[in-house]
Amino acid sequence: MSISLLTEVKYLKGVGPRRAETLARRAIFTVEDLLYYLPFRYEDRIQFTPIAAIQPGNVYTVQAEVADGTLLRFRGRSDAVYHLLARDATGALHVKFFHGAYLEGRFHPGQRIILHGKVEIDRFRPARIEMVNPQCEQLGASGADSTEVGRIVPIYESIGSVTPRVLRRLIGSALEQLGEEIPDPLPADLIRRLGLPPRGPALHAAHFPPSNEKIDRLNQFQADVQRRLIFEEFFFFQLGLALRRRRQQAEPGIAFRVRDDRVREALKRVLPFKPTAAQKRVLAEIAADLEKTSPMNRLLQGDVGSGKTIVALQAAVIVIENGYQVAIMAPTEILAVQHFLAARRILGRAGYAAEILVSGMKPAARRAAIERIGSGEAQLVVGTHALLEDPVVFRKLGLAIIDEQHRFGVLQRKQLREKAVSPDVLVMTATPIPRTLALTLYGDLEFSVIDEMPPGRGRVKTVWRSEENLAGVWEFVRAQIGAGRQAYVVYPVVEESKRELKAAIAQYERLSKEVFPRERVGLLHGRLPSEEKDRVMNEFRAGQIQILVATTVIEVGVDVPNATVMVIEHAERFGLAQLHQLRGRIGRGREESYCVLVAPKNLSGEGSERLETLVRTSDGALIADADLKLRGPGEFFGTAQHGAPALRVASLLRDHDLLDLARREAFAMAADDGRQGELERLLASLDAHWERRYELAKVG
Ligand code: ADP
Ligand code: MG
Repeated sequence: MSISLLTEVKYLKGVGPRRAETLARRAIFTVEDLLYYLPFRYEDRIQFTPIAAIQPGNVYTVQAEVADGTLLRFRGRSDAVYHLLARDATGALHVKFFHGAYLEGRFHPGQRIILHGKVEIDRFRPARIEMVNPQCEQLGASGADSTEVGRIVPIYESIGSVTPRVLRRLIGSALEQLGEEIPDPLPADLIRRLGLPPRGPALHAAHFPPSNEKIDRLNQFQADVQRRLIFEEFFFFQLGLALRRRRQQAEPGIAFRVRDDRVREALKRVLPFKPTAAQKRVLAEIAADLEKTSPMNRLLQGDVGSGKTIVALQAAVIVIENGYQVAIMAPTEILAVQHFLAARRILGRAGYAAEILVSGMKPAARRAAIERIGSGEAQLVVGTHALLEDPVVFRKLGLAIIDEQHRFGVLQRKQLREKAVSPDVLVMTATPIPRTLALTLYGDLEFSVIDEMPPGRGRVKTVWRSEENLAGVWEFVRAQIGAGRQAYVVYPVVEESKRELKAAIAQYERLSKEVFPRERVGLLHGRLPSEEKDRVMNEFRAGQIQILVATTVIEVGVDVPNATVMVIEHAERFGLAQLHQLRGRIGRGREESYCVLVAPKNLSGEGSERLETLVRTSDGALIADADLKLRGPGEFFGTAQHGAPALRVASLLRDHDLLDLARREAFAMAADDGRQGELERLLASLDAHWERRYELAKVG
């Protein structure tokens, strides 16, 4: 039977229904999927090292025969060590597998194996060297075939019971059947200009490299054939974004008047302070978008406290002066209230009408607000998801500002946009997104950054203390309160779960009664009724509450410059980005601020890495990079929810140079009017192909 890239893997020889099911767990449905399952490592098996030539301290690949195998159990210990004695023509090698119970009965004398691992001196018998926890491959009864010895051999990650060896056979035979007949979807002129290897040969060589390929380059994913496949993946993703952006730009939007004395006057009037250079630059970028006939789609990124709000409000002023309404959507009620208060303070003075709409409102107030939105009386409307609900109709929505995008899905952006013909959209985020991720996640948006803090900010000093030091920490808080400052004490109630919430409330009781009996302590969490939240926040803002015990509801938007201390208990339970956001609530005034992370000192590697990063730096970009490294891009935002691409061969961390190149090429090509049709068709065919895979996924 002849196969193509679209053939389902279950029709391959050696793949029955069971294996097909196993492969499907890794989204391998078709031959193409199988071929894009690249080895994670390569082994040089052109020449094996003779056992007699082995020196301790190095990594070797050895071909040998099993002489003997035994499982050694130690009294009083649950783990066991599997000991293997291997032999080749030159000598014998001791091999140890820790936690090796699973290997019992797997080896028999005379069996041929390949071992790859580090050789060390036996700690208990210094005269003996041993290979410890090697990768071991058992060759078949008929010995090795040409895919596994005498060449650079691909090593795959096992998929369930499908071993690297099986994968090698499946992929080898699929490639053989396909021959050179693998079509290349990349535009031919691009391949020529960049000197890329064509897809067929690249796939062949990425799985079964020719013997002159450098093994180190392969293992670093730097070989041309691998980079070609990585480029391809980025290119099509970026091309999709580029074409989407072209279509958006072709939509008719509102061309707001910006260069107009009245607008300029209005902008000056609302400014409560001198904007930073970064704020001015970003406002100019936004204003240029607003002026254009196509709708704006811009992401504004700025670290917590960098001053995004005033820029957003100035954009709002331009739009309102043009006779349109503005919507600001926030992820939480508390943040919506904050924005509303800021808007009313800043815009109210200039005579603009601001409105708030959240789900916690009384029915009559809510009806009245919806009424004013519909009549156009409300010029600026701040709200939560409530803004997306059906009864809310704007008379003339010109600009939608979405704060803290990472909490909304792409879908909500779309829903808000559909509330009007084609409003301009400004997405604001305080999550410092590494550039590589921004380009993949938000590649269809223009990108502005406020990379400068307003002047006159005190520094934030961050320390890590363990629970045993808490008495000292409370003493410090008391001294700061005595000096007129305010403090936050934060508990990890991440999902507002009952148990965590109870712990936080109990801690509040204890703090207010026992630790700070003379200070005024308040409690804020997500389950409080709206009026109660408002009351607590107002009292904290006014300085009546000195210590605010809170859950992560304060993570975004709360702005009380006099609060200079934040104690975060169980800091190890928070993510890095979240801790950074929390810490952004202090350091907003002139005074020096202090963040105390309370967590055990003996954390796991990753846990202590997170806290140490925070102690070391407050630079959002550095923190974002560290976060991406620690968590991996998939988890950074939660892939599925945010439409981050599932990358098959590329890595955002490793391959950002190729991402840049792919982006440049894709956007340049999409900008070429003569090619738009061709490229749309190309992508449509790839999409159809992907949809077919999803169909297979559902059926299979
Ligand atoms: P974020 O980017 O986190 O939304 P905000 O817009 O809330 O930051 O600004 C944080 C604080 O800094 C606010 O109190 C705001 O009034 C103040 N601020 C912003 N820009 C400036 C500036 N250029 N000069 C002085 N203070 C500023
Ligand atoms: Mg803000």
